[in-house]
Amino acid sequence: MSKILIVEDELNMLRGLKDNLEFEGYETDSAKDGNTGLSKILNNNYDLVVLDVMLPNISGFDICKKVRSENIDTPIILLTAKGEEIDKILGLELGADDYITKPFSVRELLARIKAILRRSVKQIPENGNPVQIGKLNLNFKNYEATANGYPIRLTHKKFEVLKDLYTNKLKVIHRNELMREVWDIGQDITTRTVDNFILRLRQKIEVDPNNPKIIRTVRGVGYKMIL
Ligand code: CA
Repeated sequence: MSKILIVEDELNMLRGLKDNLEFEGYETDSAKDGNTGLSKILNNNYDLVVLDVMLPNISGFDICKKVRSENIDTPIILLTAKGEEIDKILGLELGADDYITKPFSVRELLARIKAILRRSVKQIPENGNPVQIGKLNLNFKNYEATANGYPIRLTHKKFEVLKDLYTNKLKVIHRNELMREVWDIGQDITTRTVDNFILRLRQKIEVDPNNPKIIRTVRGVGYKMIL
């Protein structure tokens, strides 16, 4: 189930959006001001954010800018005020994926949400074809990999991590989530173990491990894969 954050200070609007999205089967979270919204986006793994532009303490534009500067690609739909053409252009330049002008029909917003979520889903091909990420080729069926055209050996565990990162393309993988997914939660794993694991993985798959292009670090949060 996709999880959507709604950042909106008009309570009636917030409640209406929440009800409609939940009715459509989405899980929702909400924030009523800019600071809360920003901190929720930076610290959670939403599939999409519906973000009002005019908000108390930080505007939707500034939130957008900040989120993108942290390399977080969570799709954002901006709610802009009527007739403010400049807002729309600015919003898209700042990294929003789409905008919708108030007043809007909920049906229209739902259609845009669906379109964006569809685009952002990445799946491992069932026919066993390899997945290509930059110069990295991964075959999740027979666990074969090449980097820059040369075969490399990756453990099954590394394949599993790459699969998680790949299928969550637009999301940041939080360190503790990676730990839960790859290692049993009961195991004695520290974040340092995860960091070392990623370090070794980068040495295998990155052209320049000191300047990683495939698996990027999101400061204080975890890792994400750039495709
Ligand atoms: Ca507002």
